[in-house]
Amino acid sequence: MSSNNQPKVLYLPDLTWPEVKAALPDIKVAIIPVGSSEQHGPHGKFQTDYAAAREFSIRLGKALYPNALVTTPVAIGISEHHIHFPGTLSLRASTLIDVLMDIAASLEKHGIKKFFFVNGHGGNEPALTIATNRIKHEMGCNAAWGTLPWDLIGDLSKGFVKSPMTGHSCEREISIMLYLWPDGVKKDALTPGKIRKQALETLGRKLGVREASFFDEVTENGALGDATKASVEWGKKAVEAGLERILPYMKEFMER
Ligand SMILES: [Zn+2]
Repeated sequence: MSSNNQPKVLYLPDLTWPEVKAALPDIKVAIIPVGSSEQHGPHGKFQTDYAAAREFSIRLGKALYPNALVTTPVAIGISEHHIHFPGTLSLRASTLIDVLMDIAASLEKHGIKKFFFVNGHGGNEPALTIATNRIKHEMGCNAAWGTLPWDLIGDLSKGFVKSPMTGHSCEREISIMLYLWPDGVKKDALTPGKIRKQALETLGRKLGVREASFFDEVTENGALGDATKASVEWGKKAVEAGLERILPYMKEFMER
C-alpha cells in the first residue's frame, strides 16, 4: 500500500489478507500484469516486460482505486524465440494459458469475476487470447487483455520512431521504461539494434506473413530499433496517453 500522500493502490504483494478482506466488497476488477523474463539487448534488464506491465498496472490501479486489485505479476512468458540469448526463460504456451486461468480461478474464489490482463510482451498475445476466451466461455467471467500502453499509442509512435523495425528494446520500449521504471535501463550500455539485413528484406515481411523465427535470426544483439534515441519525455507522453485512453473502457468493463 502506498504511504502518506501518494495515491493509493491495492497491490497484492504489498497487502495482508485482512487488508484484502476489507477491500474486497469494493473490488470490481482484478488487473493482472503479465510479462516475460527474456533478454532485452545490451541495455535492457531481464525484467523489462514484467516491470513495464507491473508499473503500468499500478498506475491503472491508482486511477481505479478502490475498485481494482492489482495482482502479483506473471514474470515468465512465452520467450522460446529468445532462447538462444543466455538467461532467457520460457514457458510453453499451454503452461502460460494454465497459469493465467489458474490465477483467474483463484481470484474468482475470492469473489472477483472480472479480469483484465495488462500484457508487456508480444510473445504472450496468442496465449492471452485463448486464456481470456476460456475464462469467458468456461468460467462465465468477463476477461480482457491489452499489450499496454503499446496497443493504444500507434499514432504517437508514428511520429517518433525512425528505425525500420521496432518492437523490442527499441526507442519506444526503452523510452517507456525510462519513464515507468528507469532502473530497468542500463544507460551506459544503450546500443542501436543490429537488425540483420535479410530479416528486413524477406518477401514474407513485405506480405505481412508471420514466419516463426528465432530472435537472433532477426537481430544480432537482441535489440530492434535504436534505443540511443529513447526519450523519457516521449515515454511519459506515451504512458499518460495510454492511461487516459484505457480508463473509459476500464470503467465500462467494471460496470458491465
Ligand atoms: Zn520487452
